[in-house]
Amino acid sequence: MVEERTSSCGHCGRTFRLAAGPGRPQRYCRRSCRQRAYERRTSEGDQEWVSQRYRQLSAVLAEHEDALDRVKGVLDELRRDVADEMVIDGADLVARLDEALR
Ligand SMILES: [Zn+2]
Repeated sequence: MVEERTSSCGHCGRTFRLAAGPGRPQRYCRRSCRQRAYERRTSEGDQEWVSQRYRQLSAVLAEHEDALDRVKGVLDELRRDVADEMVIDGADLVARLDEALR
């Protein structure tokens, strides 16, 4: 008498009869469940990539916003100097802008 072995589907959870014979036991009750499980793994991989990329780009954006704030600070000083009709030191201005954008 052949012993009947069963397993539960890795996708839908349904109990199914395992095929007799050698080889790796099936993990899914039917081909479409195997396909759905594969698609879910793939889409979870995509979502992980998107959220990693989102964190990286958020960090880059925060650095750019910091640099923009520093440049605006230099511009505010320059406006005050111009309003006060001060002599503008071009080399100093370039150095301060370089520093703001470091
Ligand atoms: Zn299934």
